[in-house]
Amino acid sequence: MDICILGTCSGTEPFAGRHHTSWTLKTSDGLFWFDAGESCSYTAHLAGIDLLESKAIFISHPHMDHTGGLPNLFWTLGKLRAVRKVKDFPELPIYTPEPAQIQAAFAFLRPTESPFTTPVFKVKEGIIMQKPLFVEALGNGHLERGADGGARSVSYRIKAENKVIVYSGDIKEIRELDPWTGNCDLLLMENAHYDPRVICKYLAEKGSEIGRLVFLHHGRSTMKDPEGTQKDCRSLISCPVDVAFDIMTFEL
Ligand SMILES: [Zn+2]
Ligand SMILES: [Zn+2]
Repeated sequence: MDICILGTCSGTEPFAGRHHTSWTLKTSDGLFWFDAGESCSYTAHLAGIDLLESKAIFISHPHMDHTGGLPNLFWTLGKLRAVRKVKDFPELPIYTPEPAQIQAAFAFLRPTESPFTTPVFKVKEGIIMQKPLFVEALGNGHLERGADGGARSVSYRIKAENKVIVYSGDIKEIRELDPWTGNCDLLLMENAHYDPRVICKYLAEKGSEIGRLVFLHHGRSTMKDPEGTQKDCRSLISCPVDVAFDIMTFEL
């Protein structure tokens, strides 16, 4: 499987070379998007990713640094399909805790600019997809729950090709992820609401068995000194740790 971190910036002021949060997972079953921050489709296309292999989009919560690239992603998918004269494009389901926002993103486009079917599903905690990718959602306290008690911000756990990936999304408390951080092959961890050193210490003291820890959704201090942050983190936990940069690509 290939993972590409398209954007590593949290919702701060713009930073050179950093774009808002989005990453993709490419399996033998296709391409899966997790969050869709600004310019994610532009970055993915230039990174050599075939957008027409897209199978689903998963949104962690409706903040702009996770969703601002959606209208452009829809537009780019439609444009690539037209340019390549692809007649049949399968449904592209979108999973999100706040479906109304997706309709607003579609409203940016004229009907002819988004000529594909995109069913939108409201994410509820638990298993949200079994095939072609196994995906679960876990509510977190980054946003207050809705009037119906449902989570408006979620973390995702993905199981594919005998690997387990945990994506924090944005969290309020590191312990919210306790059910999932005891054991996983890859933890993609935000670090705008927590100093990444605190996260490393917490996970090390907890005895978490994590194959690889990759920080994304950086806060300002991380972006000002990514190398120093990465060095500190590597001294605090025994698993491999990276402070991701935009278009960081690796196999799992
Ligand atoms: Zn965010
Ligand atoms: Zn947020």
